[in-house]
Formats: sequence, structure tokens, C-alpha cells
Amino acid sequence: QRALMWFKSDLRVTDNPALRNASLYGEVIALYIISPQEWKSHDVAPIKVDFILRNLKKLRESLNELNIPLVVKQINHVKETPNLILNHCKEWNINAVFINKEYEVDESKRDLKVQKTLEENGFLFDITHDQCVVPPGRVLTKDGKPYSVFTPFKKAWIKILLAENSLIQVIPLPEPNIDQSLIIHQEKNEIPEKVEGFDISKKYDADYVRGLWAAGKEAAHKKLEQFSKFKILDYKKNRDAPALDGTSVISPFLAIGALGIRECLNEALIANKGLLDSGNEGAVTWISELCWREFYRHVLFHYPRVCMYQPFKLETKNIKWRDDPEGFEKWCKGETGYPIVDAGMRQLNKTGWMHNRSRMIAAMFLTKDLLIDWRKGEKYFMENLIDGDFASNNGGWQWSASTGTDSQPYFRVFNPLLQSQKNDPDGVFIKKWVPELKGLNKKQIHCPKDCLGASEFKKLNYPLPLVDHDMARKRAIDAFKNLKTDE
Ligand code: FAD
Repeated sequence: QRALMWFKSDLRVTDNPALRNASLYGEVIALYIISPQEWKSHDVAPIKVDFILRNLKKLRESLNELNIPLVVKQINHVKETPNLILNHCKEWNINAVFINKEYEVDESKRDLKVQKTLEENGFLFDITHDQCVVPPGRVLTKDGKPYSVFTPFKKAWIKILLAENSLIQVIPLPEPNIDQSLIIHQEKNEIPEKVEGFDISKKYDADYVRGLWAAGKEAAHKKLEQFSKFKILDYKKNRDAPALDGTSVISPFLAIGALGIRECLNEALIANKGLLDSGNEGAVTWISELCWREFYRHVLFHYPRVCMYQPFKLETKNIKWRDDPEGFEKWCKGETGYPIVDAGMRQLNKTGWMHNRSRMIAAMFLTKDLLIDWRKGEKYFMENLIDGDFASNNGGWQWSASTGTDSQPYFRVFNPLLQSQKNDPDGVFIKKWVPELKGLNKKQIHCPKDCLGASEFKKLNYPLPLVDHDMARKRAIDAFKNLKTDE
């Protein structure tokens, strides 16, 4: 029997349940579909597309070691997907198609159509759960309802994992194909260097960013292992300082599925002597971050409206966001006059990645200080992040905008000055990304406009603050006051 493994956001051979199942079913042929129209409609960043293409090459090498061919095809429109797969099933004498589930609304609809087409034509279609340690739909309150707040979700999540150790187990490698000649299917099938509309050299120094983001299994595992060996135990202490290399930076691999989530959790468990929720506080905090990722996937599974530009908290639908194209552009460029905000945005624009603390500060600044619609920021992040991931990005933006799952009321407004002094006390991060401020001392660096005389400030050639924080804070609170749901 022959199986088709359709790869999507699961570009790995290790810890891959659908690939494993396909290999147990029969000889495997693997397929990846390049779909630029889908990428565009989901704002996928060129830097992420470049990373996908480079990872596909490495994935092909890993699959070929198992005698599994990887065929890469390109389509013009998502609606071509069912027929493309059907035709390949017929051409390659496939009996069954295996996929890992994606939870976003458009992806789920697409996969349902593929399933219908294949089943109508007598093919088996097998969907496996992969992206979360605990499948969405399984972490529920006593009343059988989904959680809308993180902490109780995490407690319930841990309880399930303690009771069902099998969920944590890394999925074994696929069985190799016995028939080596299947590799013939990928002959003359080139994986493109680039895809039209996603040219990274328009924005970046391509060699520089490719050097930053090495692709493939070895690079992914090396990053994870280095983190668990040398950094995880100090994670709690270092994770909020963007100047320190204190986090794992595995998010680009997780976003395209070049690392499996069970592999990550197991690394943390090794470092924490097998403990999930006690033991070393660095490891426990990191496990908690993996749980945040999981939480946001469960949220989108239960509340698909978040995939449709809707806020999680329905009453926040009626907020009057400000229309401020100029402010938005300055925020995008990292020219807000708030050094800690600008440093984060410039890191994003140069590297395609941003530290979590900087993401929160930048998102809070856009949505509270500038009172600009979170959907604009969410889109800009997706268009530029190498680790762009719908659930985490939407969750992070809605949390910051107070339209999401934050348990705090609407008045959580970060003070950018205090955030800067606390998380980058010596200004090391700011100096790296905002070099025009590098001559300032550690008091001045956080607020050059207020700490320098007018002529000294002018010499810096650094923008004036876009907005006064105290005024903006009051404005944001007023905008959230007395909102009522119209549902
Ligand atoms: P670590 O601190 O080492 O954490 C390990 C992993 O846990 C991460 O790789 C990630 O998969 C997960 N994780 C950590 N923190 C969070 C979190 N707050 N929410 C969800 N998952 C988390 N993450 C993305 O992967 N893609 C995004 O598009 C994305 N957009 C975000 C937008 C905003 C406004 C905010 C506030 C956060 C966003 N995050 C996103 C979450 C977080 O910032 C990144 O996952 C993290 O910075 C990645 O760095 P790391 O791999 O070193 O993380």
C-alpha cells in the first residue's frame, strides 16, 4: 500500500505523528504545496517564506535518508488543492493521504474540501493531532466549557499531562521505505530558491538574515539543546531582558513545525529531572511558556471568531480606535521617540524576530499610547516575523490590546519609561538597535527628550516622542470605559 504525506506546517521527520502513521500504513511519498496566494492572504512574511524554502531542502535530505521522496508543487489558488492532491494520488497509485491538523479556520475549510474530494474518490484521508501536547477540545472546565483565562487552563493542562504520560512521548521516527526506487518521483523536481512576491532582498541583507536563521533539523535541535543545557535553569531570571540571550529563540522552528512540541517539552523535562510543575523555576517557567502557546491554539479552536478579525472580548468591538496613519508608520519604522519601543521595532525590521518583552511593549504602545487598532499591528507583525504564528500572534496582540484573554481589566497599560528602566537598565538593547543614542548614559537613554537640553537633544537626530504617555494612558482608559457587549 502507498501513502501520501502532505506536509504543511510540520516540516520535520522527528516527532511527526502523521508521517509516522503514513509510514506504518505503507510506502510513503511526501508532498509540499507552495501556495503564494494563501500566504499573501494570511500575511506570511517573505522572511518566513525564505525560511520555509530553506527548510524544505533540509527536509528533503532527511526524508531521502529514509528513501522517502519529497515532491514540491506550486499552485495559483488554494481552490486547486483538492484536485492537485487527487491527481497525484491517482498518478502515484496512492491509497491514503495523511496530514497533521491545522486549527485555523481557512486551513480547516481547505482540508475538509480535500478530505471530501478524496473520500468521494475512494481514498482514505487520515487527520492526526500534532501541534499541541494536549489536543484542543480536551482541556475543559468541570462544566465542559473551554477556559478563557490562562492560569486555570494551565492547571488543568498539567493535570492531564500528569495523568496521561503518553501525551508527552516523542513520536517515533517513520519507518523507512523499502522500495528505494520511489525516489524517482522527486527527480527533476526543484525546490525553488525564491517565490515571486516574497523576495527578501527587498528589505533585508539576505546573507545576513540567512546567517542568523540557519535551517534544518540539526540547526533546530542544536538551538533547543543549547538552551536546555545552558540557559533554561536561568530562564526565569533572564527572560525579560531583551539585551540578554536568555530565551530559546526556537520560535521560527516551531512556527513552521521544524521542531515538534513534544520534543521541546521533553528537553525541559530532562533539564528539570522529569518534573512538570515543580523543581527548577527556570524550567517550570519555560514549560509555562509552551503552555501559553498551547492556550492560544485552544482559544482559536473554541473561539474561531478570533480568526475572523473579531476580538475575543466581544464588548471591545465598539472601541473607537484612532485613525493615525502617520503615527502607525512611525511605529512601524521604530521612530516613536520612545527608545525601548523603537529598539524592538528596529530589531524586528532588521532580523525578522523580536524579543517577547519588546513585543509586549511595542504592542501595548500601539494599542494604548497611540490607541491604534490592534489588527493593524497584528498584520504588521505577521508580515515581518520569521516566526509568524497566527494563534500566538493574535493571542499576544489581543492580550496587549485588552481585547483578549488577559485576566486583568482594561486598565493594564504599560508605562514605556518604566518598562525600559526595568528591563533594559543599562540601555544595552537600546544602544544596539538605536545607535543614534549610543553616547547617552544609562539615565538619559530611556528618555532622551526629557533628560537632555533642547540643543543636545536636537543633535541626536532622534525623533520627539509621538505622544505624552500620561495623556495617552487616560485617553486609552476612557476609550475602554463603559463598553457594553451588543451580543
Ligand atoms: P521562549 O521564551 O524560549 O519560549 C519558548 C516557546 O514558547 C516559544 O518559542 C513559543 O513557541 C512559546 N511562547 C513563549 N512565549 C509565548 C507567548 N507569550 N505566547 C505564545 N507562545 C509563547 N510567538 C510566535 O511564535 N509567533 C508570533 O507570531 C508571535 N507573536 C506575538 C505577538 C505579540 C504582540 C506578543 C506579545 C507575543 C507574540 N509571540 C509570538 C509570543 C512570544 O513573543 C514568542 O513566542 C517568543 O518571543 C519567541 O521567542 P523564544 O522562542 O525565544 O521564546
